[in-house]
Amino acid sequence: MDRKQLILKLRETFDIRELVCEHVFNAFGEKAWQFFDQQALESLLILRTQVHKKAMTINTWKDGGPLTQRGLRCNICQICKDKTIANELYMSAHANGAAFDYDVAGQTSEESRQQVIQCAYMFTNRIRLEGKVTWVHFDVYDDPNSIQKVSIF
Ligand SMILES: [Zn+2]
Ligand SMILES: [Zn+2]
Repeated sequence: MDRKQLILKLRETFDIRELVCEHVFNAFGEKAWQFFDQQALESLLILRTQVHKKAMTINTWKDGGPLTQRGLRCNICQICKDKTIANELYMSAHANGAAFDYDVAGQTSEESRQQVIQCAYMFTNRIRLEGKVTWVHFDVYDDPNSIQKVSIF
């Protein structure tokens, strides 16, 4: 999908502040859309409009909520910063604009994961989910050795 069209569509239901941390928004504003992986954005639109068809909660900081690191994580976001200080590698898809953590209104994370698995055919790219967490972690990292459309790690 044309990137401009894709972002226009996403902006009908998502504010960029729900997808990035305050650090990035304060520095880049709406230009922060540029940091996202194309497949991650295409997948997010499919999740919102075709898979769940309900409000998805990602970051909540714009409304004074505590969630700030569920979309793009920059190098000074706490999770990344802590890893760097500890001299530990951090290659999370969140740090590459390729992951979202979310909750869908009115359903458990397991119910949401099952919906994604059932709708796997709707995605043009391979997708990954994190199992057994109380939120949905969705990303588009693509292991070339993987043969499955959906991998759960
Ligand atoms: Zn940050
Ligand atoms: Zn995550």
